Parts: sequence; C-alpha cells; structure tokens
Amino acid sequence: MEIIDVNDLINLLSEDADYSFFYQQQDSHELFNMLMKHIEEANNQINSFDLTMLRSKQMKSKNPFLHHTKVQIKCNTCNYSFNSLKVESNYAFYFHLNHARTIQEAIDYIQQPEIITEYICFYCSLQFLRKKYTLNEQQKIIDQYLSNNNYDEDSLTIIKKIIEQLNVVKGNQFQIDPQKACLKRTVTRQTHIAKYPKTFCFFVNRLIVHPYHGLIKLDHSVYLDSTFKVAEKEYILSALVCHIGDSNSGHYIAFKRTFAQDLESSMNQNKSYKKCEWYITSDKKVTLTKQPLQGQAYLIFYDTY
Ligand SMILES: [Zn+2]
Repeated sequence: MEIIDVNDLINLLSEDADYSFFYQQQDSHELFNMLMKHIEEANNQINSFDLTMLRSKQMKSKNPFLHHTKVQIKCNTCNYSFNSLKVESNYAFYFHLNHARTIQEAIDYIQQPEIITEYICFYCSLQFLRKKYTLNEQQKIIDQYLSNNNYDEDSLTIIKKIIEQLNVVKGNQFQIDPQKACLKRTVTRQTHIAKYPKTFCFFVNRLIVHPYHGLIKLDHSVYLDSTFKVAEKEYILSALVCHIGDSNSGHYIAFKRTFAQDLESSMNQNKSYKKCEWYITSDKKVTLTKQPLQGQAYLIFYDTY
C-alpha cells in the first residue's frame, strides 16, 4: 500500500495562486472544492485528445459528486411555467441550518418553492407584444418564440432580439422600447434535483457574517440518520468533516466509515452483511472510533453502493 505524505499535498496546492488562503485560515469546504476542481481539470486534460472517451457514459460517471438541478419558474399572473436551461453540476448541496436539521429537511428546503417579485415574465411580455404587433408576419414570429419553452439567455436579451425582428417587418407601425415590453411579475421559483449524485456531499453553512458581530459560527446540532432513501436509492452515511472551535480559530477533523466483511457472516454465506468501522483523522493521526461526532458536522457525505 502506498502511503501519501499530507505535507506533499499541501505544498503542491500552495504553489497555486488560488491557494494563498492556506497561509491564513484553512477551510475544509474550500479545500474540497479546490481538490474537485483539480481532479476535474486533470480528467479533462487527459481526455481532451479523445473526444469519444470524454462523451462516454463511463467518463461522465467518474465524478461521484456530479448532480444536476433544474430550475422551474412559474408566473403567478399567467400561470405559464418555463424551465431554465442551465443545468448546474455542483459538488455540494447547501445545508441551511436555519431551515434544516436533518438530511430530509435539507433536501426538502433545496426543493422548496420560493416567491420572487419583480421577475420578468417572458410569456406575459410576449402576450403584450402580440397585442401591439398585429401584422400576420409579426404574429408568426411571436408564436414561434411562444412555442419554445427553453431559453438559455435572459428575458431582456431575447425580448430585444424579438423586437428588432418585429421592427423590420414591412408595414410595421411601432418602435417599442424593449425595457417597457418586459413585464415584471411575481413568480414561483422551484429547484428540482434532476439527477442525483452517487455520493451526496452536504455543506453545512456554519460560518456566517452577522450584521453586528461579523463572522460568527452557528453551533446548532444536526441529526444524521445512518441511511436515507431518495429516488428509490439508499444512501449510507460514509464520512463527515467537523469543525471544532469558534469562527476565528479551530481545527477540522474527519470521520470515515469503512466496511469490512464480517468473518462470521462470510462463513454463513450471508455476504450482504457488512461490519462497519469508523476512523477519525486529526492532522496526521488516524484512530479507530466507535461513533462519529455527527452533531457538529461541517461536511457530510452519504454514499450509495
Ligand atoms: Zn406571466
């Protein structure tokens, strides 16, 4: 087995300009994001010469944290709903301590509808244009945009384009200001997790900026079940990173669960049963522990097998 010296990794990361924070405060979530970024870059570099490989399912499934979220926006005036084409592929899900204490609550909060005011409703705006630009050819142009449900540009940019198109139609009588054609409505925005990751990573946002006290740490406990089920898949608590101390100073420790085949069960041919052991990593020290310190979790990992 190859033993990795942690100092080599830290030195390597410190060489990059992005890692200047290493000499000040070190944050496990930032470190996680940086490591992921580097792994992703390395993966892309290796395979940039081989496009078939890059497009293959096998390549895409290499990142266990990859997931997709889809955003749906529904106008409260015209009831029309449209999906944002942007499919995000973030690594960690936010676990908002003010709204969630369990994994189910955190997932529910991510997918909870929120009301947004003063949002440009593309459909209402198009209906407005339809009333103003009444020539046959103009109505056809507007209908084409109405029939498409996915746009990857913001509403104002598209409305500008449409008005330009409408203005050049022969016999046109109008010159509408695109800003005025953008009708602002109250909408309901909802995020859906469209593709679940193989490994869920939750980032518990414990360090927040308080309006009077500056950077403070939220000490609220989280309650983690050893398993949870979502989309008919069972996820098992597999690792945790905890922050000990306050917002100015402190220390990160990591807990990792390993699964060892139980000797007795393998003799009974019941190989599905696995014995689990938790290890605690604190700097360079790795020791066996009975239970992880889950209440103060900062990063939470759940795996599916
Ligand atoms: Zn609308």
